[in-house]
Parts: sequence; C-alpha cells; structure tokens
Amino acid sequence: MGFDLFQGNTEVVARLRRTLAAGRLPHAIILSGPEGSGKYLLATMLAKTMNCEAAEIAARALLPQAPPTPAPAKKAKPAKPATTQKPPEPVAMSLFGDSLFGDMAPEPAEAPAPVAEEEEQVEAEVSAAPSPAYISEPAAAYVPNPDGLPDFCGVCPSCRQIGLADDFAARFAEAVEAREALKDSEKKETRILLQPHPNLIIVPPDPPQMLIKVDQIRRIIESVRFVPERGRRVYILTTSGFIKEAANSVLKVLEEPPAHATIILLTENASELLPTIRSRCVTLTLAPLTVAQLEADLSHSQPQWDARQRALVARLAQGAIGRARSFDLATYTAARADALTVLRSATSDGEHTQLFQTTERFRAGADGREKTEQLMAAMYSILEDLLFLQHGAAHRIRNTDIQGELKRLATATNFGWVERAATGLGEVRRGMRRNLLRSLSLDAFAASLE
Ligand SMILES: [Zn+2]
Repeated sequence: MGFDLFQGNTEVVARLRRTLAAGRLPHAIILSGPEGSGKYLLATMLAKTMNCEAAEIAARALLPQAPPTPAPAKKAKPAKPATTQKPPEPVAMSLFGDSLFGDMAPEPAEAPAPVAEEEEQVEAEVSAAPSPAYISEPAAAYVPNPDGLPDFCGVCPSCRQIGLADDFAARFAEAVEAREALKDSEKKETRILLQPHPNLIIVPPDPPQMLIKVDQIRRIIESVRFVPERGRRVYILTTSGFIKEAANSVLKVLEEPPAHATIILLTENASELLPTIRSRCVTLTLAPLTVAQLEADLSHSQPQWDARQRALVARLAQGAIGRARSFDLATYTAARADALTVLRSATSDGEHTQLFQTTERFRAGADGREKTEQLMAAMYSILEDLLFLQHGAAHRIRNTDIQGELKRLATATNFGWVERAATGLGEVRRGMRRNLLRSLSLDAFAASLE
C-alpha cells in the first residue's frame, strides 16, 4: 500500500517523504516530467499522506510520550481532533459529485478563528510531529511503511475521498460534461475545479482554451487562508499553461504561502512557467520510466499479457506508465496488421487486392476517422523501426514481436523510401482534415511509394 505503488523515480519520492517527515515540505513544489511519468499520481499520494487519518492516529498515539517543548500554549492542538468538536469546514464538504465546480460549492458559513493565530498553531503542530511517530507502533489498521518514512493507508475515509480523483481524466471529463449541461448564463460563470476532499483542490486547464483561468486561482485564494481542522491543504495545478492574470494571481499566493498549505504545480516543461513563479518553488523532476521498469509493472498490472506483449507495450509507452497500463493492445495489433498490409503492398508491385480490401474498411464517419488515426499511428511506429533497422540500431525498435517482418521490410526499402512514406502519411492526415475519402487517399499513399 501507499508509496510502494509508485513506480520509478525512487530518489525523488524518498526526498519528498523525508522533507515531509521533518515537517519541512515546501509550500510550493513544481513537479516536472514527461507525460505519464507519474506527476499527478505522486501529487495525490502526497495529498493522501498529509491527510491520512490512520497515519495521523498512529502518529498521535505516540505524541503524549514526547510532548513538544516549545510554545506550550499551543500544545493542546494535536489532541483536538479526538474531540467531537468540529469547527465549520471552510471549503465545501459536499461529496465529490456535488463539488465539481468551485463556484457551486457553498461559501464558508463563517470564518474560523483569526488566521494569523491559527497559522501559528499549525506551524507548532507541524514541527511537533516527530518523524519517529511513523516508525513505531502501528495504530489501528495502519501499518507503517517499513522504510520508516511517512506514508498513507489508502483505506481510511480521507484516503478514499482523495482516491475519488485518482482517475483524473474521467473526473475531468465528467466536470466538463456537467458544465456543458448548464444554462449558457451559468456556463460562463462556472470554472472547473475538482474537490474530492475538503483539503484537496485540483485545478485542471479550463476548456476550450485549456488554460488555467483567473477565477480558478481565485478559489485557491479564497480557501487557502482557512486553516484546516486536520491535515494539510493541498492544491494541485495540473498544467503550467495559465492565462496571464491567472499566473499573476498564482504568484500572489506564492508570495505569502500559508503554513498549512502546499501548492503543487505539474508541468511537462518547467521553463513554461514565469521565472518569478519558478523561483518561489522547489522544482523536482521525474524521469520517464525505463523499459525494464514498465515491463516489471505490467507483469503485475496486466498479468494476462505474456512476456512478448509486455515487451511490446513497455516500448510503445515511451516511458509513460499510465499509457502502458491502459494500452489497448488488441486495437493496436489490429491497426498494425493493416499498416503492414499497406506498407507491404507499397513495396511489391502488381497484386493490390489485399490493399484494396484493407483500405475499403476505412470509411467516412467518426468510427472510420478513429480507425484511420490508429492505422497511421501504427504506421509511424513501423516506419521509425525501419529507420532504426536501416541504421544499425536494432536494439531501439519498438515492435519487437514482429522483428522478422520488419527486417524483411527494412531490406526491401531504403531511407528515401521511408522518408517518402512519412511525408505521404502527413498528406493522408491533411486529406483527412479536408474530409477526403479515406480509402482513396490511403490507396494513393501506397501507390505513391512504388
Ligand atoms: Zn489513510
């Protein structure tokens, strides 16, 4: 359970957990890395860890033996969650489905105690939580990680609530769809935010521009000053593309980061962010996963695949674990078989019956479009492999399961042919945009290569 489920980048993960154990997690973190390297997963795992009830109980059980010496007046705070007393929750407590939109979330009924004082309390609380609390006796169902670093249980109510947003793509799509269903007047005002847990707000890019907008950041500003009753507030911004005013608003939050919150910016390219934002954050970079790491993961996550299939998917995923796990192998294999038919017929003159039979199936309509896209993606990956083979880099090919076939094609063609094929594919794609009959443009593509 917990961080054991995170694949790769062990040093970055360990570093984050060590700072967490020491109560020194930065207030603003940039998690940079290619698509699929696990940025979002890691950010939500951190949010779970900071709010895990089981881990907190385990930690608190040990606190009375080691009361912190500084700030005696504020020492009572850690015991507070044990009482039934609950101050009003500043951010929407509503269930996930009701709080897809920040603007639809109920406004705080009343402000909790003065912020400055509360902040001090929380700081005292954080520094009073010693890391050995996670090492010693387990509390309830929580089994501390043998590595002794902070972790999350994944099953307490808090972990489960945050886990509602594990499938980001699905939740994001639901939120966009829900907004589409609103009246036009409301649609304009509504910004998309995910809030699976009172302490976690996820800010996705707002369609159609797919940029973070200033109203979304406003929700962060509104809620960030409220001190959570327990745990720590986490804000995950899933893209580094901001409307200019939004970037300036983020900067304002980062200029005075509250003690009880962590803002995590996810980006594929940290240089896209304003230098003033970068300088206020700690940047951690996640590397793409190696083929071996992906293969190892697939042996657990996709046990129905054999070693050959795992090897293929691990190479096609290009370091992205999400892409590897959700890879549609059957669709890819079918598209690749068609791609091979087209390419084969382009290398041999005369008999084209098979080609026409294949391209016949790529008809107009949304279904045909998707099929053609898959065919072209498979064709590109084959062409790349042919280039690798022709340049003595056989170890880099991705379609390892059809090496024999690829070698035959690589011998029958040359660099100029592959180049023409890639250009031709580009033309088919442009033709698709102009809605040319797909089967015809595929036939023309194959014919042009002879
Ligand atoms: Zn938990």
